[in-house]
Amino acid sequence: MGLTYLEKFRDPSLAKNLVAAIHKESRLTLRLMEVCGTHTMAIFRHGIRNILPETITLLSGPGCPVCVTAQKDIDAFVAVSRQPDVIVTTFGDLMRVPGSGTTLAGQKGAGADVRMVYSVFDAVTIARQNPEKQVVFCAVGFETTIPTIAAAVLMAAKEKVTNFSIYGANKLTPPALAALMTTPGVSIDGFILPGHVSVITGVDAYRSVFETHKVPSVITGFEPIDILHAVLMLVRQNESRVPALENAYPRAVRESGNPKAREVMHQVFTVGDAAWRGIGLIKNSGMELKPDFKAFDAGARFELNLTDVAEPKGCACGEILMGLKTPVACALYKKVCTPMTPVGPCMVSSEGACAAYYNYG
Ligand code: SF4
Ligand code: SF4
Repeated sequence: MGLTYLEKFRDPSLAKNLVAAIHKESRLTLRLMEVCGTHTMAIFRHGIRNILPETITLLSGPGCPVCVTAQKDIDAFVAVSRQPDVIVTTFGDLMRVPGSGTTLAGQKGAGADVRMVYSVFDAVTIARQNPEKQVVFCAVGFETTIPTIAAAVLMAAKEKVTNFSIYGANKLTPPALAALMTTPGVSIDGFILPGHVSVITGVDAYRSVFETHKVPSVITGFEPIDILHAVLMLVRQNESRVPALENAYPRAVRESGNPKAREVMHQVFTVGDAAWRGIGLIKNSGMELKPDFKAFDAGARFELNLTDVAEPKGCACGEILMGLKTPVACALYKKVCTPMTPVGPCMVSSEGACAAYYNYG
């Protein structure tokens, strides 16, 4: 009997062959970074770290949208939830990320109307059902999520749902990779590039980062075979000293990605700077509402009076997101910081590196 489509990408004998090839061909010491929280989770869940040779270190990069949300943005979400007659809507993981004072979950416990949604469209529905309230969606995500948020804004504009707005903290992947490559101390021999993001951006979006830094880069999917295949391709690129930008996920990712989704995204948003948790400001790595859609900007709708507050003392999320440290090297890991008592977002999000180490490490 032949293998089903999914079985093929989980087939133990295929995996065994790939692992054997990696062991045979890997000589150089390599630091490979996966730039996607789902890759981090898959790598841990399938025990991929443990079956690779000692020459290869896998690092978790800035690929979890919750982990890279700046503390100031969390503070903004909390501040919005303190406004009268406001319903704050958010994805689940974000609820427990600590701002400088409290979390959205803490606010909910204190009586604020904070609701978990599965899609930004649920937030628009809540706005329609509660015309006397302001409904704000905490917009965090990468290229995968931004087109949907743009579509929701377009829908709200068309249907004149004027009590809906977003607090934007969306981010773009390629500028973050470029910023990593110029950060002192960062050493990366290859990127395992995010599958879902690349469905939208296409291979083309990474070309300028690749041309500038010549770092071996492979886009791949989320099954064990996908990840092992990408690792082998990165080993081969490094061993042959011929860096390349390759696509190991052609069943989902095209060279030009999804132009339609990008069109919707650029209809509503324009590129701006963005603050990344623990990393700081990265130029042109964020998305701002265009002037035509400023009416949907929660930041402009409410007076929030935010101040800059230092990130939690001892939390090494920034260094972890840049591959400078692993979670076990954080002084707070497992001692003060656990999934039940998270200090930083990397321990909160199910896709965060610290949570993955804690649960599977
Ligand atoms: S949005 Fe998709 S590509 Fe980005 S971190 Fe999540 S799973 Fe990975
Ligand atoms: S273990 Fe906790 S405190 Fe340390 S880096 Fe991770 S999230 Fe931050």
